[in-house]
Amino acid sequence: MTELAIHGGRPIRQTMLPYSRQWITEDDIAAVIETLQSDWLTTGPKVGQFEKAFAHWTGARETVAVSSGTAALHAAMYALGIGPEDEVIVPAMTFAASANCVVYQGGTPVFADVKPGTLLLDPAQVETKITKRTKAIIAVDYAGQPCDYDALTAIAEHYNLAIVADACHALGGSYKGKSVGTLADLNTFSLHPVKNMTSGEGGAITTGEANLAQRIRVFRNHGITSDHRQREAAGSWSYEMVDLGYNYRLTDFQCALGISQLHKLSDWVARRQAIARCYNDAFASLHAVSPLAVREGVSHGYHLYVVRLDLTRLNVDRSAIFSALRAEGIGVNVHYVPVHLHPYYRKRLGTGPGLCPVAELAYEQIISLPIFPQMTDADVGNVISAVSKVVTYYTV
Ligand SMILES: *Cc1c(COP(=O)(O)O)cnc(C)c1O
Repeated sequence: MTELAIHGGRPIRQTMLPYSRQWITEDDIAAVIETLQSDWLTTGPKVGQFEKAFAHWTGARETVAVSSGTAALHAAMYALGIGPEDEVIVPAMTFAASANCVVYQGGTPVFADVKPGTLLLDPAQVETKITKRTKAIIAVDYAGQPCDYDALTAIAEHYNLAIVADACHALGGSYKGKSVGTLADLNTFSLHPVKNMTSGEGGAITTGEANLAQRIRVFRNHGITSDHRQREAAGSWSYEMVDLGYNYRLTDFQCALGISQLHKLSDWVARRQAIARCYNDAFASLHAVSPLAVREGVSHGYHLYVVRLDLTRLNVDRSAIFSALRAEGIGVNVHYVPVHLHPYYRKRLGTGPGLCPVAELAYEQIISLPIFPQMTDADVGNVISAVSKVVTYYTV
C-alpha cells in the first residue's frame, strides 16, 4: 500500500487544493475598471442594474443588494420586525451568522435539529420548538440543497410564521422547478469569494413582497428614506431618518463584478453538479464514506460537497482523516460546528450537548471536499485518489 503523506509518503498533490475559491476572468476585471472610472463608486446605477439582473436570474420579484450575507440576514430579521420578545427557529447545523442575525435584533434564536440524511432543518423538530413567542423560521439550504419548503410552509401557515431561506449555499438550485430565491418570504444570499458567485464581499435579499424590499432598502441606508443619488437628482439636501438602520450598502464596482459573474453562474452550477456526480460515483464503492442524501425534486446548488465518515469502519477519528487529507494536498474543511455548541451561545442561552443530537453526531463525522467550478478533471481525480488512499489505509 502507498505510504500516506502524513507518514512521510509522497503526497497526491504538491500544491494545496482549496475547498472553494472564486473564479475571476478578464471580463470581470474590465467591468470593475469601467465602474471605477465612472462617476459613481457607490449608490450609483450599477446597484439597480445588479438588483434587476439578480432578480431576473432567480425569478424573484425584488432583489436588494447589501454588503454581505450576514447583512442580508440582519435586514431580513429587521424587515420582519423581529425584536426582544421574539423567538426565531434556526437549524443547529449552520454557520453562526444564521443565528447571530436574530440576536442583532434583540430576539432569541431557538435551535432545532436537522434530518440525519440531508442535515437540513427537520420540519418535525421545528414544530416541537414553536411557542407563543415564535415569529419566524430560518431555513438553511445546507450545502446547497433547498430545504423541505412544502413541509415548512405548511407549518408556517398553520402557526402564522414567516420563513427566511438562508440560501447562502444554494444560489442556482431549485426545488420542484421553483428556483432558490423564490422559495421563502425572504431569501438571503452571500457573495463572498467562496460562494457560488462573488462581488468580493456582498449579499442580496430576494422577496416577492415589495413592502419588505422597501423596508430593507431604507434599513441598508441608515434608516434614511432617500439615497445620495436620489437627492442629487432632485436637487435637494433634505432627508429624513425614519428608523434606526445601518450602512449595509454594496458599492457600484462590487455590483459591476456581480453582474459580470451572473453571466457565468449557470455554467458554474452545472460544473459543480458534474463534480458532485463524479464524487458520488467514485465513493459508491468506498463503504466508510457516504455522500449526503439528496431529496426528490431538488436541483442542488453544491456550494459544499459534504461526506459523512462511518467511524465504525475506521480506526481513527475525523480529525485524523482531516489531517491526512491535508497532508495529501487536499484542502478539506468541516462545515459546521453546531451553533449551539459555540461558547457564546452556551453562555448566552445555556445551550450545550444533547440539545440537537443529530447535528452533534453528524459534526463528528462530516468533512467537506473541494468543489468549485474552476477545478479540472485532474483536480477532481486527485480528491478521489486521496480520499480512497486515506480511507482505505484507515479502514478496519
Ligand atoms: C457565508 C454564509 C453566511 C454569511 O455570509 P457573509 O457574506 O460571509 O456575511 C451566512 N449563512 C451561511 C449559511 C453562509 O454560508
